[in-house]
Amino acid sequence: MSAWEKNIRKVVPYVPGEQPKEENVIKLNTNENPYEPSPRVKNKQLELGKLRLYPDPCASKLVEALAGYHGLKKENIFVGVGSDDVIAMSFMTFFNSDVKILFPDVTYSFYDVWADMLKIPYRAVAVDDNFRISADDYKCPNGGIIFPNPNAPTGISEPVRFVEDIVSANQDVVVIVDEAYVDFGGESAVSLIDKYDNLLVVRTFSKSRSMAGIRIGYAMGNEKLIQYLNDVKYSFNSYTMNTPSIELGVLSIEDEDYFRANIKRVIATRERFRKEIEKLGFTCLPSNANFVFATHDRLKAEYIFEEAKKKKIYVRHFNRPRIENYLRITIGTDEQMDIFLEFLKSLV
Ligand code: PMP
Repeated sequence: MSAWEKNIRKVVPYVPGEQPKEENVIKLNTNENPYEPSPRVKNKQLELGKLRLYPDPCASKLVEALAGYHGLKKENIFVGVGSDDVIAMSFMTFFNSDVKILFPDVTYSFYDVWADMLKIPYRAVAVDDNFRISADDYKCPNGGIIFPNPNAPTGISEPVRFVEDIVSANQDVVVIVDEAYVDFGGESAVSLIDKYDNLLVVRTFSKSRSMAGIRIGYAMGNEKLIQYLNDVKYSFNSYTMNTPSIELGVLSIEDEDYFRANIKRVIATRERFRKEIEKLGFTCLPSNANFVFATHDRLKAEYIFEEAKKKKIYVRHFNRPRIENYLRITIGTDEQMDIFLEFLKSLV
């Protein structure tokens, strides 16, 4: 090892799902939305001459649109480059003690990566045999809590009273609820932020708004929490959001009808797909997200994953304890799911 390598921050990075370069693939591996963003976004003519200027560091237009949408004040909203950026900033800002933070053992596989990278001590709390999070497991001394609701990659969601149970028992630390998938049938905890100044709710434009490529995420919480987040952000990089993202994000927020219709289509396909694969010997966890988490009674998940890939169908397989025999299948269009079902029928 070279002398200079000794002082390097060494990390084991998060591994995102594959973004295959080949044409004509069926991509059901990274929970993108199969439909295009709102036509208002698609048809917007951007004034690219404006790109010579720095973007608004506060992304005020977008923050105001989000505040209006959620019935909050702009002081309650923090925006970032995807919810990954928002959550990473939140880890840096709020998880700053020597006491272990808590998150489920089966959850978004970026949480332990951020914790390791930022040297935050943590404990992964086992979900139960049905992959459910148990609120009582979070009623112990800790340095902060984060969990997705619906959880990923299970898709299982818990009601708002469950979130309140955890938040009210942990008022000495910050509790982050990652609502990346909430629009597909979950219950949001946003209504609790007035009542609990230690609750931060995080959302993204990547799933229900069909805008993973634009990279918009945001957090909602008490003004003080948001102020602390902004202080860290401005100590790191003032211009995180680019001008096109700010402009296009606002247009998405303004098109509520398209947003609702888009979600409805994905949910309808999810329910149909779930019933169909259950007929083929799969068991699915109850999903309120834009994916299903499924295991087959006979075929190994890894085998299905590899065989599907040969047919240019990409799903996600995590080689992790407890879930190595499950596949996370993003809900695509009806046509894509039918092709995948035909493939599964031939395999089974
Ligand atoms: N949270 C969860 C639970 C996710 O699954 C994802 C998607 N990988 C994210 C956050 C991050 O999404 P994005 O950065 O695209 O907003």
